Amino acid sequence: MSEENETGFLEEPTILSVGRYMELVVKLKFLDDAIIRSNDPEEVLTFRYKELGNRFIIPWRKVKGKLRRLVMEKQRGLEIEADCHLKDDLCMHCPSCFLFGGTGETSSAKVSYNILARVFGETFISTTEVGEIQPYTANAVDEKTLTTGQALMNIVTVPAETEFLGVVTLRDPTPEMAAIIVDNLKRLSRLGARSVEWGRVKTEILGYRLSDREELSAYELVEREEEEEIKLGLTGIEKQKLPKVEEAYRNLDIQVKELLKKEKLI
Ligand SMILES: [Zn+2]
Repeated sequence: MSEENETGFLEEPTILSVGRYMELVVKLKFLDDAIIRSNDPEEVLTFRYKELGNRFIIPWRKVKGKLRRLVMEKQRGLEIEADCHLKDDLCMHCPSCFLFGGTGETSSAKVSYNILARVFGETFISTTEVGEIQPYTANAVDEKTLTTGQALMNIVTVPAETEFLGVVTLRDPTPEMAAIIVDNLKRLSRLGARSVEWGRVKTEILGYRLSDREELSAYELVEREEEEEIKLGLTGIEKQKLPKVEEAYRNLDIQVKELLKKEKLI
């Protein structure tokens, strides 16, 4: 089992969980109006919470998909396992695979082990209530994109400046793993969609908490309203001396391969 250092991070990555969680509180702010087809589960939706009222939400899948692509893109830029690709072409022994997980059997690497994801999250919730939803008129938008069978889709506009809060959790974090996730979260500057360009977003990490269990939830954070109050319970990410991201990728790459060899998996 890996030793913890004085910062609460693990010294080395582990295969089995030691039950340590780094919860990062992330704020996403839309810089442009975003036009969202609301019946596509991939997109931003609205949800009526009992206490919070009607809110815009971004499913975690959406943020995770983008984050994973960014992590892989940066890794490729550093020429680490440049052939590792999403879907069936995961290499199963690189930093990205180690962080986001993979299934050995279905990957072209054809290995007998699976990697459990170490990056988790939940739905991002808007800090303000949804105003009146103005459905777009049919002739304003391409008919084809508007219709499913006979029914018109709801089209929702998320106004520029709308902010969302969410919690991104890194399980059993080492400084290298944290550095990679922090760097790429900050680079998340655009949330795309298959058929709609959402435009630019600004990402800010309000702080983090290290704990032996998952404690934070977007729902509670949004309920608290005041950003300063939220920050009180968190450690600022700049307080943590994380390695440079390039160094973090290179070290984690070596560590992951050593770990898999030690476990006789590769
Ligand atoms: Zn890989």
